[in-house]
Amino acid sequence: MERIYLDHAATSPVHRAVVERMATMMTEVFGNPSSIHFFGRQSRHVLDEARETVAKSIGAKPAEIIFTSGGTEADNLALIGAALANRHRGRHLITTAIEHHAVLHACRYLESEGFEVTYLPVDERGKISLAELQRALRDDTIVVSVMFGNNETGVLQPIEAIGQLLKDHPAYFHTDAVQAYGLVPIDVNELGVDLLSVSAHKINGPKGVGFLYAREHVKLAPRAFGGEQERKRRAGTENVAGVAGLAKAVEIAQETMATKQSEYRTWKAKMLAIFAESGIRYDVNGDEEMSLPHILNVAFPGTNVESMLVNLDLAGIAASSGSACTAGSIDPSHVLVAMFGKNSDRIRSSIRFSFGLGNTETQIEKAAYETVNIVKRLTNGR
Ligand code: PMP
Repeated sequence: MERIYLDHAATSPVHRAVVERMATMMTEVFGNPSSIHFFGRQSRHVLDEARETVAKSIGAKPAEIIFTSGGTEADNLALIGAALANRHRGRHLITTAIEHHAVLHACRYLESEGFEVTYLPVDERGKISLAELQRALRDDTIVVSVMFGNNETGVLQPIEAIGQLLKDHPAYFHTDAVQAYGLVPIDVNELGVDLLSVSAHKINGPKGVGFLYAREHVKLAPRAFGGEQERKRRAGTENVAGVAGLAKAVEIAQETMATKQSEYRTWKAKMLAIFAESGIRYDVNGDEEMSLPHILNVAFPGTNVESMLVNLDLAGIAASSGSACTAGSIDPSHVLVAMFGKNSDRIRSSIRFSFGLGNTETQIEKAAYETVNIVKRLTNGR
């Protein structure tokens, strides 16, 4: 049976060129980047090159990049690091109800440490309101964290407008760009972003590596203590091969962004056209215009997530319920709860399809027809 992987928002296959780059690093470059000698210099050079590639991709300076163990650590360092280092200026943070748990749980921790957090709601299209953000902003607000593109629905937030709104406010602006990076162009200066999180495994890179962009002069308290690696903000010997793999994935993502954007949008439209023609009932979750090209989150009224995912898996199709961060991916999604309320039927009947490397138009069509068959079966053709 052909297996069709449509869960790229959860994680993505590693690009062959990334594997090759990492294999070379692991076999040929093993020195500790902190060592003075030739072997250390060799590793340091790999890190420097990677830092430059990564920085260039978002219009940053190399010294503004901190390599991390992934999106979670980048989010934690941004939120907790910035809050702890700036608590003398205030103890208030603003975020949204639809953030990834790496942000939400960091906020919960900060609340237990005496910080106050405002969680902005979203409307039925999954968007925050700028007016509401403006109202929540206080003199003692030290961090505003709004995700770039949502991992469950793909909905994009108005990052540039938020950057504008915060231009004359001393609060740091953090955005979790883990899902958006590589699929939409990002320039931290144009967007007015101070902190930005990225993870390699969402862009066909290795797992367990990512980076945090931290604008020059942004104060961050370290979360890992030890040596003085990563600008004294993150101790520990760097994951050199992982970082080299991340940089290779970044290069490829930059080169292929435009093609992917149009290809994934076409596939999304194709899938929806097949649903429409079939006569099944379906509702797209989230703002269809302002969303990431690779994520399609759809409710199939009268079905339930568990049956849908099991039946899709039996048909060889890997999809998700929306929340890629819960074991088995079948827990009710908190993002859809924030959009529609906890009693909405959409929470129990929504599926996330996400496209990426290795998918073809034929696969997308096949997955769409299989989905139609399953929905018909589960709803007795109703
Ligand atoms: N933020 C978002 C929006 C994500 O989708 C993810 C991954 N599910 C993360 C953060 C965490 O990244 P990582 O898996 O690299 O820790």
